[in-house]
Amino acid sequence: MALELRPNCEYCDKDLPPDAADARICTYECTFCAQCVETVLFNVCPNCGGGFVPRPIRPAAERRPGLSLAERPASTTRVHLSYDREEVARFAQILRDIPPADR
Ligand SMILES: [Zn+2]
Ligand SMILES: [Zn+2]
Repeated sequence: MALELRPNCEYCDKDLPPDAADARICTYECTFCAQCVETVLFNVCPNCGGGFVPRPIRPAAERRPGLSLAERPASTTRVHLSYDREEVARFAQILRDIPPADR
């Protein structure tokens, strides 16, 4: 298994190409931009309640056989939140002060 490398922020729809330094993912690979994680989500994934980490950048070059962005391409399926913004804000408010390890 490899990360899907989803192409956009689920909240604001910003493009997050495979080499984006500001892509953030939760344990289920729900994907958001750093700006949304910091200013709207407060490190609370609206889908699962977990925290976020920076998404690793997949090497473009094939340094080992079969492993490169060309061999294992990024997803092109854009994903959008199924919760409205008010619900997301409420959810973040409940969980933001609880460390991810305690959620
Ligand atoms: Zn965003
Ligand atoms: Zn999640």
